[in-house]
Amino acid sequence: MAEPKKHIVVLGASYAGLSTAHYVLKHVLPRRPDSGGYDVVLVSASAEAMCRPACPRALIADRFFPQDKLFVSVAAQFAAYPPSQFRFVHGRATALDRRGRTTETISFHALVIATGASTPSPLLGFNDGPSDALRAHWAAFRTALPTARSIVIAGGGPAGVEVAGELGEHLNGSSGGGWKAWWPLGSSKPPPRVAITLVTSAPELLPALPPAIARAAEAQLARLGVRVVKNTRVTAVSFTASPSPSSGNATSDPDPDPDPLTSNAAVALASGAVLHADLYIPCVGTTPNTAFLSSSGLLAADGRVATESSTLRISSAQPSERLYAIGDASDYARRPAVHAVLAAVPVLCANLRRDLLLPLVGEGKGQEGDDAMFREDTRATQLVPLGTRTGVGAVMGYRLPGFAVWLIKGRDYWLWTTGRLWSGRQWAKES
Ligand SMILES: Cc1cc2nc3c(=O)[nH]c(=O)nc-3n(C[C@H](O)[C@H](O)[C@H](O)COP(=O)(O)OP(=O)(O)OC[C@H]3O[C@@H](n4cnc5c(N)ncnc54)[C@H](O)[C@@H]3O)c2cc1C
Repeated sequence: MAEPKKHIVVLGASYAGLSTAHYVLKHVLPRRPDSGGYDVVLVSASAEAMCRPACPRALIADRFFPQDKLFVSVAAQFAAYPPSQFRFVHGRATALDRRGRTTETISFHALVIATGASTPSPLLGFNDGPSDALRAHWAAFRTALPTARSIVIAGGGPAGVEVAGELGEHLNGSSGGGWKAWWPLGSSKPPPRVAITLVTSAPELLPALPPAIARAAEAQLARLGVRVVKNTRVTAVSFTASPSPSSGNATSDPDPDPDPLTSNAAVALASGAVLHADLYIPCVGTTPNTAFLSSSGLLAADGRVATESSTLRISSAQPSERLYAIGDASDYARRPAVHAVLAAVPVLCANLRRDLLLPLVGEGKGQEGDDAMFREDTRATQLVPLGTRTGVGAVMGYRLPGFAVWLIKGRDYWLWTTGRLWSGRQWAKES
């Protein structure tokens, strides 16, 4: 009787997990003498993959992006592999039994944790839910947006700045030609149509970029009707359901459970000020999707999987245990970034291939090479569109002009790159 397959289980099907699955299928399993004895099982809470960086613009309206490119079916990206080599499981990992080596009911021979991270606002990615939930959140937000006259956004990192820029352009007009352009020269400026306030606890926006670039972003945001409040953090937010224009019933009881996506907010700041806004969007940090590992002993203090940053093996695991973590769920890199993920995938897979060979080495049938090593590029690399026409940023420490930021990222928020990535064409050659 044929031996049961040994499963290489990958949890999460986005930049990290989907890429790892393709790479293992293309370059790890074919190079094993007993490659037929293995398969890849890709498990994901969402049946689709999406271009997550596009969320700050995509949340406003579907017309900004072709939806069939923005969202793709995970299973369809693996249709070319035989079913004996690949299986997609649409499901959420809820527990890990490291000794029993199962997640839910799937046994694993090797395990790659690539479950990413969740944003406090459900508008900015799948988080750990299905893709339909993201579309439902966008739909709810879009019902409230046309009547909003004030918006508070918390967080001066790239997500907060991009959301502010996109909403500023959409609601107040585009840079230089928007809400101020028609105002007579020399007279005092009118307020923007929608007052957008971006709050950051830091002394400047975009802490990963030099202050001169951050200030250029702030000036551009001002042209889009966005006011930046620095050096103070949001300490509490309370919501009151916005009055429905159709109800006309001012005396009805307040909604005990207002939807934070569509409700009026009172935003308390550490400075003592309270900002009242028709809509509030938190863009402050992320939480790793690792709750299912809470009792595994694998997590670092910040909730990410404690990972050897050079080899992508989980820190507490021996090579013979074949446990790895990559992407935003792992602490291998300082900042969440797709380019860090893409540089790490070949390293993780080379070490997985090496670790799979260890038993053969023990039997004198294989040769153990050196570990592959990942080194994070720590030079300032961040591109931040500010609406559909310009942006700020740097690549490997070099500042880029607004036109270049638009060309590389701002015109479609990287959608030009994701087709190759999701389909696995990006990994056709071994790196
Ligand atoms: C608004 C925004 C803009 C960004 N812009 C950029 C940018 O321009 N450039 C850049 O380099 N980076 C950007 N990033 C960061 C980038 O998106 C992340 O680094 C990248 O998405 C990380 O990929 P990942 O595969 O680790 O995780 P994620 O993309 O978070 O995907 C995690 C996957 O795991 C699944 N999952 C979650 N929990 C479970 C579970 N328990 N069981 C099974 N599956 C699970 C999810 O469904 C999803 O498929 C941005 C991030 C945000 C939020």
